[in-house]
Amino acid sequence: MDRIKFSCTLCGECCSGSMKVFVNSHDIYKMGRFLGLKHSRELFQNKRLILDKGQNGLNLPRILFKEEPFSFCPFLINDFDESEGLRGFCSLHLIHKPLVCRLAPLYREIDLLEKTDDFHFILPHPGCPGKEQEGFIDPENERKELERELDFEIRYYRLLSSHEEDPSFLWDFSLEDKDDFDEILTQWEKEK
Ligand code: SF4
Ligand code: SF4
Repeated sequence: MDRIKFSCTLCGECCSGSMKVFVNSHDIYKMGRFLGLKHSRELFQNKRLILDKGQNGLNLPRILFKEEPFSFCPFLINDFDESEGLRGFCSLHLIHKPLVCRLAPLYREIDLLEKTDDFHFILPHPGCPGKEQEGFIDPENERKELERELDFEIRYYRLLSSHEEDPSFLWDFSLEDKDDFDEILTQWEKEK
């Protein structure tokens, strides 16, 4: 995939409204550790995550947007730029940010049956001004930079597809036992 003319203006549009941000186990791990939690379950208890219909009709975890005074991600922080324009920052930026947000405007499409793993350019929000800005993103660089996280995500989907009857262990786990998420995934792959 060639370089794409795009630069994020931090307008925050894609972090608000009716967007649905589904997260994988590694995203949950990063989010929970960022908040200093002991167990991923606390993210559901304190209303940061909710289960909702996602891929294949499965109930999967996604970020629960706040509804008042308008709908926005609980990790979004609003601020003003030097010309008093409203900007939106992600408090998880950069290393704790969910992979789907980190990749945007690239969208990853995985088909485990067909063994395909493709990236597409999709505007994160219909009103996104990113295409009109100076600057480029290089999909190949992004893939190299995020190699480890992309591998975690494939392994998450493999576990999900082989445990469709009860995948809850993928979002209900201790955040204290292991300091490296790879160890958690490897343990699941061995034991489940
Ligand atoms: S809508 Fe586009 S420009 Fe605005 S924050 Fe999202 S990616 Fe950036
Ligand atoms: S996690 Fe960050 S980038 Fe993703 S929707 Fe929330 S504020 Fe936006």
